[in-house]
Amino acid sequence: MRTTVGIVGAGPAGLLLARLLHRAGIDAVVLESRDRAYVEQRQRAGVLEQGTVDVLRAAGAGERMDREGLRHDGVELRWAGRRHRIDLAGLTGGRSVMVYAQTEVCKDLIALQLAEGGPLLFEARALAVEDADTERPRVRFRHRGAEEVLECDYVVGCDGFRGVTRRAVPAALAQVFERTYPFGWLGVLADAPPAHDELVYAGHDRGFALASMRSPSVSRLYLQVPAGTDAAAWSDDALWAELERRFETADGAVPARGPITQKSVTPMRSWVHEPMRYGRLHLAGDAAHIVPPTGAKGLNLAVGDVVTFARALVHRRETGSDALLTSYSPTCLRRVWQAERFSADLTALLHRAPDATPFELRLQRARRERIASCRAAAADLAEGYTGFPF
Ligand SMILES: Cc1cc2nc3c(=O)[nH]c(=O)nc-3n(C[C@H](O)[C@H](O)[C@H](O)COP(=O)(O)OP(=O)(O)OC[C@H]3O[C@@H](n4cnc5c(N)ncnc54)[C@H](O)[C@@H]3O)c2cc1C
Repeated sequence: MRTTVGIVGAGPAGLLLARLLHRAGIDAVVLESRDRAYVEQRQRAGVLEQGTVDVLRAAGAGERMDREGLRHDGVELRWAGRRHRIDLAGLTGGRSVMVYAQTEVCKDLIALQLAEGGPLLFEARALAVEDADTERPRVRFRHRGAEEVLECDYVVGCDGFRGVTRRAVPAALAQVFERTYPFGWLGVLADAPPAHDELVYAGHDRGFALASMRSPSVSRLYLQVPAGTDAAAWSDDALWAELERRFETADGAVPARGPITQKSVTPMRSWVHEPMRYGRLHLAGDAAHIVPPTGAKGLNLAVGDVVTFARALVHRRETGSDALLTSYSPTCLRRVWQAERFSADLTALLHRAPDATPFELRLQRARRERIASCRAAAADLAEGYTGFPF
């Protein structure tokens, strides 16, 4: 099999890239190790930055998002029983975010790809990228029990944190920057109306909690838990009781209870692989970087990477110049590191580190007070939250 761009992974990065290339008239083949149902049901991100929303619309993939997504012009921060609204739109000159689940973004992109785009092979597991530093890179993969080869002009590794494509970068050239956190998020999906019409980020002495939503009748809620926690160890009653404590306010508002339909624990990690390009292999999304979910940046960073790659390839076709492809890694990494900084700062602002000293807790309180009382500090948070430019 032969194509211009071999895309490994059909998460948001791989699927959007396939769509952008299709719109630009560049052929691509997508290899995805899982089946379609798995990719469409994997519960993950839910907050789309303004830039992501704009890209999905421009790619002709925003119709259902605009109909069913929930536009949010603000978020609420809650601590010491008090609420502080961050007016995202007012502080950023009109930028907002869209609450629309990653599962739905993937469903929309898969439907478009199968209807209009090039091949998208499910249950096709990439085994290795070969000859990445030549003009004819290849992806060896296994599909329907047989080993096959995809010959390409370019390979884009969109295969997530556990993918194989980045192994093609020689160890002597690769650098990894990493921080693991001593806590994770216990996430639940509940058939219950959202606690509030905007997202609520609570920094409680017992730990962080987040109240988000999937629709007007489905809530997505998270609790900070120690690393290694087993989700099954939490009964539904214990979960609701803990959520009620962490979201407590002086006015007594608490999330509405309802049947919990899903529970899982996500570890928290900051991680960057540099460089993001080796020869004709380009890494995009979680294959190259992970952020703790606090800043809601993971999916949005993946979008930034593939937009950068698609632009670079179109530029090459139009001008014959490789300049944008060559600068792919530093261009992406500038935005990646801003998102890493933002996500780490917001995590530190809102979580209760088990080993925090009294001095650090006072600093955390001072940072919170600064955001609640200073427009410039709130504006900085709002700019980061609504997203850094592509
Ligand atoms: C609980 C949780 C909440 C989150 N909340 C947010 C949020 O609110 N906002 C946000 O922006 N981000 C959020 N994120 C992060 C976001 O989900 C990820 O950053 C995003 O999925 C990255 O997309 P991706 O396409 O790069 O990788 P992935 O979504 O991981 O997709 C990679 C794909 O590659 C496939 N694959 C892997 N190996 C191979 C192989 N060898 N061959 C072929 N295919 C392969 C996988 O099956 C997968 O489909 C959250 C993550 C979690 C876990």
